[in-house]
Amino acid sequence: MNQILIIYTGGTIGMMTDPKTKALKPINFEQIMENVPELEKLNCKILVHSFEQIIDSSNMNPEIWCELAHLIRDNYDNVDGFVILHGSDTMAFTASALSFMLENLAKPVIFTGSQLPISAIRTDAKENLMTAIEIAKAKKHDRARVPEVCIYFDYKLFRGNRAFKYNSSKFEAFRSPNYPILAESGVHLKFSLNDIRQPTEDHFIVHSDLANDVAVLKLYPGISPKVVENILSADVRGIVMETFGAGNTTTDQWFIDLLKNAINSGKVILDISQCKVGTVELGRYETSKELKDMGVANGYDMTYEAAITKMMYLLGQYKEPAVIKELLETDLRGELTIS
Ligand code: ASP
Repeated sequence: MNQILIIYTGGTIGMMTDPKTKALKPINFEQIMENVPELEKLNCKILVHSFEQIIDSSNMNPEIWCELAHLIRDNYDNVDGFVILHGSDTMAFTASALSFMLENLAKPVIFTGSQLPISAIRTDAKENLMTAIEIAKAKKHDRARVPEVCIYFDYKLFRGNRAFKYNSSKFEAFRSPNYPILAESGVHLKFSLNDIRQPTEDHFIVHSDLANDVAVLKLYPGISPKVVENILSADVRGIVMETFGAGNTTTDQWFIDLLKNAINSGKVILDISQCKVGTVELGRYETSKELKDMGVANGYDMTYEAAITKMMYLLGQYKEPAVIKELLETDLRGELTIS
């Protein structure tokens, strides 16, 4: 019989309204189980690991990502797949981080949660949880159908490092406009086999050195030299720069000089677009030509969540800026498409 490990970190799925404060607060996993008697009927053995401290995912952090990665490593040989219950707010960050930390993954790691608590009458939690388990145990010829870190939400399975939370009130909380969905649940569970990644090597590796040595420079017309200078001189090694359109920035000399100085001082700057759909094309416009020439890294069509966590992952693994730049521009886990 298949064995699935459910890891419960928190999120709305396991929350209840506090009668006193009227705010949503986390409950324990036994109370979740009571709401889903259907779990007993699944043709698989469910193991559960509940975090000691159940959190709203706004309190998520890289230490907990490491704990998750280690739990997966420690249980890897004993189970067929993992389902991680997590708040939707930062789920795309955690899924992206884990995708980089787990190299040559051959088993499903499916994140899910919900917009309404599992005890609510109109909850989306039950469908999300039951189908996430179905996907985690789905196999063909004894191999996992989706050996990837994914997010399952509202009938759709997304590659974790391609998705982001785009809606805080609809059940359809996530989107992945730059990459097709990996599976859709309806009357049948339909897998998009051509879009699902398979590990290229057998050796499963868990990387747990992450460095949160990152700052973000989000551009807007009228941004002042003082603001840009402050961000670029922060005591960090990596800057994620959110640019306009296809990766463009102002060509004002003061701006170009500040970027050049930052790169010369050993910082790595990664260019991703503020647009949610499409890709960075360094050098297509005059307004990105100098960026390319000075050595800004091309983030192609990466999500903000993938860019931040990939930067943390690479800064944790490597010291040399040129190596980090090269790997930022390389497709490591299906997080970007080189155009
Ligand atoms: N604030 C919640 C969280 O991210 C929202 C959710 O679970 O959907 O933990």
